[in-house]
Amino acid sequence: ATPMSIISGVGRAAEFGVLVRDADALQRASTLDTLVFDKTGTLTEGKPQVVAVKTVAHSEEDALHLAAALEQGSSHPLARAILEKADSTSLPQVNNFRTLRGLGVSGEVDGQRLLLGNKALLTENGIDTSALDDELTAQASQGATPVLLAVDGKAAALFAIRDPLRADSVAALKRLHQAGYRLVMLTGDNPTTANAIAKEAGIDEVIAGVLPDGKADAIIKLQSQGRQVAMVGDGINDAPALAQADVGIAMGGGSDVAIETAAITLMRHSLMGVADALAISKATLRNMK
Ligand code: ADP
Ligand code: MG
Repeated sequence: ATPMSIISGVGRAAEFGVLVRDADALQRASTLDTLVFDKTGTLTEGKPQVVAVKTVAHSEEDALHLAAALEQGSSHPLARAILEKADSTSLPQVNNFRTLRGLGVSGEVDGQRLLLGNKALLTENGIDTSALDDELTAQASQGATPVLLAVDGKAAALFAIRDPLRADSVAALKRLHQAGYRLVMLTGDNPTTANAIAKEAGIDEVIAGVLPDGKADAIIKLQSQGRQVAMVGDGINDAPALAQADVGIAMGGGSDVAIETAAITLMRHSLMGVADALAISKATLRNMK
């Protein structure tokens, strides 16, 4: 039987906009020591915007036009940023469109072969990025995500895309840090960008360049080091990690799959809910002893 105090703890959490699936979840939440956060949409607003464009032998308008045409077929948040920045009326058709998980997208537009994504995507295709490397480093070290465009095998443009931290992320992480948790960021983004954002956020450890399938493995690795791990995420691609973690915490307003998988769901889309949830869980379990 579930002790009354746990049931009342679940009720108290609900008053704070924290939905706890069952008594067991509240109990497990009381012994965590490590909190892993998805970056895009969890630490950040998840509404990235193009803040700078640098081109090589293309006009900015042409480069944006080609990139936007290609991103029509993508549902990635970076695709939305590029489509918003470009004049997206009368975009040309794309042939042979492909999504290359964790790398970017490819396809043919107006008879030109396009690649759009991170540096690894271009490098893997034998494309020299040296004309854009300085800009890439400069943008990434300021926390922007560089997205590169290649046209017919040549580097053509760099789009710097910025996704600001949520307004209360820094304060919420500070509260969690003071409560003694180790804070980890888990992202598919590149290490330089991820580290810059982590520094701004007050995150202790960064696991970057993780492919969508690798998020759950990253949790397993932390658990094998003896950590008691919560995963906080909002996306479909976070679901396996939410399931693997000792406690999965889904951000309200995130994907339904994430919410269905998580033991705890935050009604508010704010990391303050994580701090509230863990404080209530600890207080509830303390009262039982
Ligand atoms: P995350 O959601 O954490 O950014 P992903 O695995 O979705 O991780 O993407 C990893 C990286 O691959 C992105 O940071 C970006 O550089 C590149 N990428 C993926 N999809 C796209 C896309 N549609 N357009 C441009 N770049 C992309
Ligand atoms: Mg996300």
